[in-house]
Amino acid sequence: MDGSGLPEVKSTCPYCGVGCGVLLRPDGEGGLDVRGDPDHPANLGRLCSKGSALGETVGLAGRLSAPMVNGAEASWDDALALVAQKFSDTIRDHGPDAAAFYVSGQLLTEDYYVANKLMKGFIGSANIDTNSRLCMASTVAGHKRAFGTDTVPQTYEDLEEADLVVLVGSNLAWCHPVLYQRLLAARKARGAKIVVIDPRRTASCDGADMHLRLAPGSDVALFNRLLTELYEGGAIDKAYLQHTSGFDDALTKAFADDVTVTGLPEADIKAFCKLWMGTEKVVTVFSQGVNQSSSGSDKVNAILNCHLATGRVGKRGCGPLSVTGQPNAMGGREVGGLANMLACHLDLENADHRAAVRDFWNAPQMPEAAGLKAVDMFKAVGEGKIKALWIIHTNPAVSMPDADAVRDAIAGCDFVVVSDITGQTDTARLAHVLLPASAWAEKSGTVTNSDRTISRQRAVLSAPGQCRPDWEILSEVGKHMGWAEAFDYETPAEIFREYAALSGIAGGFGRDFDISGLSDLDDTGYDALEPTRWPVTKARQGGRFFEDGAFFTPDGKGRFLAVQYRAPAAKTGPRYPFRLNTGRIRDQWHTMTRTALSPRLSAHLAEPFVDLHPADAAELCVEAADLLRLRTPQGTAILRARITEDVQRGQVFAPMHWTGETAPSARIDAIVAPVVDPVSGQPESKASVVAVERL
Ligand code: SF4
Repeated sequence: MDGSGLPEVKSTCPYCGVGCGVLLRPDGEGGLDVRGDPDHPANLGRLCSKGSALGETVGLAGRLSAPMVNGAEASWDDALALVAQKFSDTIRDHGPDAAAFYVSGQLLTEDYYVANKLMKGFIGSANIDTNSRLCMASTVAGHKRAFGTDTVPQTYEDLEEADLVVLVGSNLAWCHPVLYQRLLAARKARGAKIVVIDPRRTASCDGADMHLRLAPGSDVALFNRLLTELYEGGAIDKAYLQHTSGFDDALTKAFADDVTVTGLPEADIKAFCKLWMGTEKVVTVFSQGVNQSSSGSDKVNAILNCHLATGRVGKRGCGPLSVTGQPNAMGGREVGGLANMLACHLDLENADHRAAVRDFWNAPQMPEAAGLKAVDMFKAVGEGKIKALWIIHTNPAVSMPDADAVRDAIAGCDFVVVSDITGQTDTARLAHVLLPASAWAEKSGTVTNSDRTISRQRAVLSAPGQCRPDWEILSEVGKHMGWAEAFDYETPAEIFREYAALSGIAGGFGRDFDISGLSDLDDTGYDALEPTRWPVTKARQGGRFFEDGAFFTPDGKGRFLAVQYRAPAAKTGPRYPFRLNTGRIRDQWHTMTRTALSPRLSAHLAEPFVDLHPADAAELCVEAADLLRLRTPQGTAILRARITEDVQRGQVFAPMHWTGETAPSARIDAIVAPVVDPVSGQPESKASVVAVERL
């Protein structure tokens, strides 16, 4: 409590997967004072620029505050009845797979749970996918192949206890800034070394001891070389190897791989391998540079192979750590929000798992096969196979690869519902029905961050107009479709209890995700829930996984994957001589729906740009600030040139945030090819081929 008379309320930042705790105090004029929560284990009081500016982004300008049907304001009753009728008609006339939900890592776990239950248990299709597909799907696939489940073995504390931290395809300094601050503080205190593996020079290189600027997409070859060096250097942990399978095949493939495709000097490769081999406490952090690739799953497994071979998994300061993009990417994965997963890390294609979930939900039908992953889902929309589509808190008309085609597909779909906090996105403008949703700080629920810590988001502001929380909107549609009992939820606490109880069934199948210890939380206990790392059972809480060599595979062994370098799908050539890398900038988030509301965040990098190497600029007679046209088979974008050695020759980098609303010519995903990893379905957002022309 301070002079304002209002108490501070604990909540969680809505941006990245670090999941920082925040203390919120309404300022009495609709705004918020925000500071870092010193007691939250993710950030211990720290906040980055985006988190610090949260209070500037909660204004009501541009908010959608009433349901809209075909551009006219409607009552909730009419809008919900229409949505339910259209989905019911679609299922009756064309089958359940003609319906689809495309949701978001911005959803709270309770929202996600209800969406997944409605689609998979009641509509009877697995056509629910999430924008986490663009973010973390390759890690999910890699984890499942190696561990049997999508398990993050490590914790954030491991970053501080490691003697070597390797950042692979991760600009931690900009994309997970508070973790980077923790890492730098630990480095100062303990002298840990940092290696960055990234084609681009990023802010994360400032504090690094070594930067390996490998060729785009060549991570597998580098980690295969590391595996062979570990073998030849006698660093294989033979005792731990007893708990694994597939080592010999993986090693054979690794020896057959060709590290020269990385373009790295041999001396640098050797120095990196020597450092990794000679440092017991090593944490390998990986993120979008690994995941957003047509070989993303193999990259993940090439990294995991090295940790499994040395037994460096799940130990203090020692193991692989994926960092997620979104605040609740992990919660979405846990709840089964991906088209190929069932709730609580159960397998959709396992009949026993399916039956258990169906019985628990008392569901009329369950799909037996995976649904359409994001890129295929929007292709199916474009082909007219999906006739009723509900998009929740995401902007695929901007953020999907080949975004113009996605925009056209949505525009041509028979029936499109969008739930969001604004009706002014490229996607929302295409909706037949717009449903006004509560925003961060107006809604309550839970999120899970990158190290399995479940935290509460809490409502401290009133939602404007007729906005409602997503779990409530989804439940109402479920009731209108005839499933009143299954969706008779009054509070998010009730949903969380049900979810926690379901996880106990998963635990009974020997799965990792078990929070059944939270299933008897009463409303007061839920409201007071402190950050809690899963699992949470009678037998254990939190901790790390796999140090003991017990995995979640059918034979209980960790699995090596025999992987080999595959080049990015598109080849450069005379027509498209450059490789396009896309990514984030420090102070914007996604398609800027929230961060663009803060003048100081927008001041960091105020307009879209493309980074070009000085030698390439000279060849193209380009000077700094010239306007350039980037052309790919998918389309064109116009961006201002920045000339910098941060990118290598033949490569360009452009940010992904700007939209048809903010900079129509700079929608970068409109020129990204819709190529995906064949295992994970994650798009290759960092290796399209492109022509660069001076305007
Ligand atoms: Fe929010 Fe991520 Fe920044 Fe933490 S590091 S304040 S979670 S954006």
